[in-house]
Amino acid sequence: MSTEEISIQCPVCRREHIFTKDVQEFHCRGKHLVLFSDRHGWRLMEVRKISEKEDRELDKIWGSSEE
Ligand SMILES: [Zn+2]
Repeated sequence: MSTEEISIQCPVCRREHIFTKDVQEFHCRGKHLVLFSDRHGWRLMEVRKISEKEDRELDKIWGSSEE
């Protein structure tokens, strides 16, 4: 079990927010963000209007937590 907390700099308000190590959605100042991890570590990314192609890209990100 790992419920470690991490602080990530927010691309919206430029402050750090505390998260548990879990893929999750987050709202800051009316922006929709998502926390996810890739090979570089945990990242906060703003979710914009999603096209079908981007949707497939997100599927790749969200579906590749196995490695
Ligand atoms: Zn913020």
